[in-house]
Amino acid sequence: ASKPLDYESPHKKSAKKFILKEYIQLTAGPANFSDRVLQALSMQCLNPLSKEMHLMMDEVKAMLQYLFQTTNPLTLVNQTSGSGGNESILTNLLDSGDKLVIAVGGTWGEKVQDMAQRYAIDVLAIRKPPGEIFTLEELEDAVKSHQANLLFVTHGESSGGTLQQLEGIGPMCHKYDCLLAVDAVASMGVDPLYTDRWQLDAVCTASQKAIGSPPGLCLLTFSPRAEKRIKAKKTKSPYYFDMTRQGLYFDCFVDDHSRQYHYTFSSNLLAALREALAQVCEEGLSEVWERHKRNSEYLWKKMGDIGLECFVEKVQNRFHGITCIKIPSGIDQLELLKFVKDKYDIEIAYGHGPTLNKAMRIGLLGQNSRPEVVDYLVQALKDGMEQLIKRGT
Ligand code: PMP
Repeated sequence: ASKPLDYESPHKKSAKKFILKEYIQLTAGPANFSDRVLQALSMQCLNPLSKEMHLMMDEVKAMLQYLFQTTNPLTLVNQTSGSGGNESILTNLLDSGDKLVIAVGGTWGEKVQDMAQRYAIDVLAIRKPPGEIFTLEELEDAVKSHQANLLFVTHGESSGGTLQQLEGIGPMCHKYDCLLAVDAVASMGVDPLYTDRWQLDAVCTASQKAIGSPPGLCLLTFSPRAEKRIKAKKTKSPYYFDMTRQGLYFDCFVDDHSRQYHYTFSSNLLAALREALAQVCEEGLSEVWERHKRNSEYLWKKMGDIGLECFVEKVQNRFHGITCIKIPSGIDQLELLKFVKDKYDIEIAYGHGPTLNKAMRIGLLGQNSRPEVVDYLVQALKDGMEQLIKRGT
């Protein structure tokens, strides 16, 4: 009989159960799952080419069209995270040498710039100081001067806590024969987004933020204009991210219903996403948007009561999903984060990009956007600050 090589097995007898502690996840994502999503995750796997899988895909697609507020046929899921979604947009819409304007409002814009440069796309990056968002005129100047084929903007910048206004940008881009792509990874299901009404050509979000399903899927929609561009592209996109192949699998094209296999799609992740989307649909988008706004405003007020300040000073620029709080003077933020995690089982995030060493980031996303979560968090932060001041750290 064949024998394995002489490497030692890490578990010689039965492996010890790996116990994971559960936390209230108030970072910039992933957010906690509902019980319904957890239940969906406990199902057996399905054949990726089965009728059941196709039915689930059709249902997910219809719910995504509602979520994205679109009738785009090319609305689908790709088995990658939000970053992979942004990369899918870039590589399906642009050839090397094509011109891209990227409106950098924080870390996520920087990453899209990095991605684009790896594909030899001709990038013009424009930037704003922390807490600020781009005006339509600034975006128009950049699109015009760079003769851009694509403008990429981030809607909710989870690194800096800002919300880029999108209305008017689509028609402006189309005047110059430029497409508009939006990173709505953090903002989908938090702040209003209208793909068709605002003429957005490609929008990407991820499963693990306000939608509340496990990380691992990105959700995408492409306008008919973008679909035409994808089909006219000179060079092929990376195989895995090929939206024409994945679009076939998700039955997005009127002229081909072959639903050809592209790769083994996780039925478990899809079932969890289906359940999470159903919950968003049942609540209704207007209530979902209103709830996130209401609870963030409640958080800002309660933080003010204990002497904490928002990093983004202009209220109209604030994203309702992630609130950045200035690090209070005399407090070591990492000690404070550790305190609330150890004593209250709450995870919040330290700063990133524009907020690095300046602010902490609190996500009230999906199921976690509730007043009782805000009350518990503010109690934890208050206790933490008092204890750290007492200890002198
Ligand atoms: N864009 C934004 C706005 C995000 O908040 C994130 C995740 N924090 C990403 C992109 C990247 O998503 P992922 O981590 O799922 O790749």
